[in-house]
Amino acid sequence: MIEKYDVIIIGAGAAGMMCAIEAGKRGRKVLLIDHAKKIGEKIRISGGGRCNFTNINTHPSKFISNNPKFVISALKQYTQNDFIDLIKKHNIKFHEKKLGQLFCDESAQQIIDMLLLECKIANIVLKKDTIIENVDKQEDKYFISLNSEKYFCESLIIATGGLSIPKIGASKFGYDIAQKFNLKVVETQPALVPLTFSEKILAICKELTGLSVEAVVSFKNNFFEEGMLFTHRGLSGPSILQISSYWKLGGDIKINLSPKLDIIKFLVDRKKSHPKQDINVIISEILPKRLAYIICNQNKVNGNICELSNKALNQLSNSINAWAINPTGSEGYRTAEVTLGGIDTDEISSKTMMSKKHPGLFFIGEVVDVTGHLGGYNFQWAWSSGYVAGKYA
Ligand SMILES: Cc1cc2nc3c(=O)[nH]c(=O)nc-3n(C[C@H](O)[C@H](O)[C@H](O)COP(=O)(O)OP(=O)(O)OC[C@H]3O[C@@H](n4cnc5c(N)ncnc54)[C@H](O)[C@@H]3O)c2cc1C
Repeated sequence: MIEKYDVIIIGAGAAGMMCAIEAGKRGRKVLLIDHAKKIGEKIRISGGGRCNFTNINTHPSKFISNNPKFVISALKQYTQNDFIDLIKKHNIKFHEKKLGQLFCDESAQQIIDMLLLECKIANIVLKKDTIIENVDKQEDKYFISLNSEKYFCESLIIATGGLSIPKIGASKFGYDIAQKFNLKVVETQPALVPLTFSEKILAICKELTGLSVEAVVSFKNNFFEEGMLFTHRGLSGPSILQISSYWKLGGDIKINLSPKLDIIKFLVDRKKSHPKQDINVIISEILPKRLAYIICNQNKVNGNICELSNKALNQLSNSINAWAINPTGSEGYRTAEVTLGGIDTDEISSKTMMSKKHPGLFFIGEVVDVTGHLGGYNFQWAWSSGYVAGKYA
């Protein structure tokens, strides 16, 4: 026997649950399926266990996509304030950490519990630990087969997310479905991910492991001023994660380790006012001691500043204000927070999230070619796109 649902959603993550809730509220009969044993694992591990669930500064400019205008409609239909209202309705206490980023005071589990409760109220049938064997379309209906069961629906929603963190359930299911239905996929790449380097830079990173500095990190015209962290694998921290979403293999990233100070001017002034001061001591006024020592060493400068040529000072200041380095790659999907690329937005209506070629087939959340900056924007995209599909499915 084949059971009928109005809406079947594959993927019970942030976007899938939000979509189920909205469709259920409209009285649609909804089946929500996930292959994971535990629901909402990505939410649980997000934001260091406190889930950075949205950003009060949500704006289309905070998203990367081949079509930067694609996000406008969904973000307008369901805003950060709508999600904040939902959180308040459930008495979940939260705070702004910095830069508009909102986190739970207690635990990300509160967000999962809230979504599951809303699903229950909306009469959603939830099947976890369930493998989908086949998806098919006959006329205007979509059919899915599980083990021995078969279902069909009018609206099929793909909410299977991206490729990051495979060990908690990420899969390429969404991209395979796109291929099956002849929809274009923008090439995927790990994003919001630590960057790796060849031996010389890696040796510096290893020596400085654990050290964090405020830095401006740029690639071409994109730059981010946030913390940067040296690790035994390379560079990480918010500014590096942000730039990783823009960086392309082969290109240099530029790091300003002292963004508030014009180092060459500072050094020339200091050479005049304190000619006998040691260069290591001077640089340690600007940067943490360990970093100052390594930078002086790399630039082969030591001794009194008066003994250093202006050329040497220029080179030294460049390596502080504009350190250009060439990443060899990233840590990949194992540690990436998100996946860049995905279902081409040309294929989807931005008003409804429905496929233009296949009425009734929807794509939402991270599986779509929309990637938010770090700071709660990726969840906001999941809530907004999920809500929109839930309204039209
Ligand atoms: C470590 C980490 C921390 C993060 N922190 C934040 C943060 O604080 N703020 C923020 O905005 N974003 C954060 N993100 C990003 C955010 O988690 C994602 O962008 C968001 O979860 C995407 O929602 P989604 O519903 O599209 O996909 P997901 O939440 O990934 O959900 C996809 C669901 O589909 C299921 N699925 C996959 N394949 C199949 C299949 N074949 N069959 C059935 N089910 C399947 C998965 O099990 C999963 O439950 C973080 C990501 C990571 C990895």
